[in-house]
Order: sequence, then C-alpha cells, then structure tokens
Amino acid sequence: MGGRVWLVRLASLLALGLALGSVDASLGDVDPQYRTCVDECQTTGVIGENIINHCQSQENQNDTADGGSWYNQEQWKQLNCKADCRYICMMRREGERQSLGLSPVKYHGKWPFLRVYVFQEPLSAALSAVNLLMHFIGWLSFFLLVKHKLPLRPQTRRTYYEYTSLWHIYAMLSMNAWFWSTVFHTRDIDLTEKLDYSAAVALLGYSLILSLLRTFNVKDEATRVMFAAPILAFVTTHILYLNFYELDYGWNMKVCVVMAVVQLLTWAIWAGVTRHPSRLKLWIVVFGGALAMLLELYDFPPYMGYADAHSLWHASTIPLTYLWWSFIKDDAEFRTSTLIKKAK
Ligand SMILES: [Zn+2]
Repeated sequence: MGGRVWLVRLASLLALGLALGSVDASLGDVDPQYRTCVDECQTTGVIGENIINHCQSQENQNDTADGGSWYNQEQWKQLNCKADCRYICMMRREGERQSLGLSPVKYHGKWPFLRVYVFQEPLSAALSAVNLLMHFIGWLSFFLLVKHKLPLRPQTRRTYYEYTSLWHIYAMLSMNAWFWSTVFHTRDIDLTEKLDYSAAVALLGYSLILSLLRTFNVKDEATRVMFAAPILAFVTTHILYLNFYELDYGWNMKVCVVMAVVQLLTWAIWAGVTRHPSRLKLWIVVFGGALAMLLELYDFPPYMGYADAHSLWHASTIPLTYLWWSFIKDDAEFRTSTLIKKAK
C-alpha cells in the first residue's frame, strides 16, 4: 500500500527535524551587548528614554524568585522588572541588528515578538484561547449527543458507546492544556512554563493511551489498565522530572515527538485497515496533524513581529480540532448503531 511508504517518509522527516531542532540554541541572549543592557536596566530601572517602574524600588537584585514555589508581591515586581528589561533590551538589540542587515535571533528560546499590552506573544495566546474554545464546543456537542440524542442502555441508563468517559477525560485534559498554553504565551515565567509543559505532556500521554485503547478495541477494565499503566508511569515520571529535576527542552521535545508520532501512526494504520465509515476524517486529521508538527519543528522568525511557525501551528490545530471532534461524534454514533443492531 502506498500509504505505508508515505508514513515511513513522514516519520523520517520528523526525525530529521528533531535532530536539526535540538542543535538550535538561543543566540540572542549570549550576546554581550544584550546582557549588559539587561544588567543595567535591572539595577537602574532606566534604559535610554524607557523607565521601568517595576525596577525602581528594589532592595535586592538576586534571582530568588525563580525557584520559589509561590510568588509574593515583591517577587512579582522582580519578575516583571526582569521581563520588561529583557523585552526592551531585546527590541533595542534587534533594531541595531536590523540596521546592520542581520536576521533576527532567538532570546531565551524565543523569537523577538512585538507585545500587545500584557501579551508577550499575542497571536499564539489568542490562538491558544481559540483552540480551548474549539475543544469546549466539540466536547459540549459530544456530551449532548451521547447523553440526549443517542439511545441509552435500558438497564443501566449508560451510553452504548464504550469510550464515552475516556473522551470526557480527554476533553478536560485538552482544555487544561490550552488554558495553560494561553497563560504561558501571555506571560512567560518559570511557573507558567512548567505548567504549560506539564499540561501538554499529560495530554499527549493520555491521548496516546486513548489511541491504543480505541484502535485495539480494548473494552474490559483489566486490559485497559494493562495498556495504560506503563504509559501513565512513564508520563508521571517525566512530568516530575521536568518540574523538580531539570526542564530539559531537548529531551522533552524527543519524548513529545515520539508520543505524537506513535499515536499518529496508530491512527493512520487503523484508518487504513478499518471499515469505519468516518475513516476519511481520521486520515485528514492524522495527515494534517503530521504536517502541522513539521511547522513546530522547522520554526522560522515572526513575520511582522507576530506570526512565527509556532503560532501558525496553533492556528492549524483549530480546524483539525473541529474535524477531530466530528470524528469522535461519528464514532459514538457508529458504535451505538452497531451495538443496537447486534442486540436485536
Ligand atoms: Zn504554544
């Protein structure tokens, strides 16, 4: 089958992107001119004609705020001072670089974005919020379908569809992940970054379990636990590692790409062999999802200061999310009618 060849090619392309992506370090923040600017800004609160209010009344300049488990008012002030100084110095440095004909570089792992009010990456933040909304709408219509439109089992009053509660959990984890993504793209600090990464890893791990349970038609509890336990154990350990040991971007990227590629392949192969009436929707989501992942791996600097590869990736998942929930609803209808036919 031609599809298989394409899958192998896609997987190797993703692997190549992974190898290239992990070598890319932030050039902007090692620049001595940028560093001097940030230091000066944080101690004096003045850079050129810019006065940063958060930096004005500071007694100590040490970075205690970073490791703290909670943030009091003074620590918030310090965080805002640091963020504002980094932003102003980055923009000054980028202006200088541009006049020298140099292309943009990353600072602390991110491209130089133009801010809108408090939003550090306005486009990614807004698109994350739209993704959250799409999951909410998708989940709500799924909920109404299985609870009110489709028939329920006469004895238990439960749905015929065997995966109802699994999709409910999936919806919660998705909305949670997009919520923290919105927060993180609004304000990037140590805490919001960890929450965003943890929520994304939890969602990816859970959807991997779900893809295996659905494609292998695992219906009884004991077998489900057998499938889920090793993945849950690994994902939990990985989240604890990121939060309390080291936020290793390269390693986390590898873990996430592997979890994503495995579930995309699982769905793709299943869509290829199953007689499911909505397999075409599945194909589009899987191929669209894989192409969208390439955007995340081959990232380019923001166009007009706003639209970088990452924000386009967040845009591409909006229609895919719509189609994905549409597939899930079709699946619920399909399974329900099959089970009712069998019962008769
Ligand atoms: Zn994002």
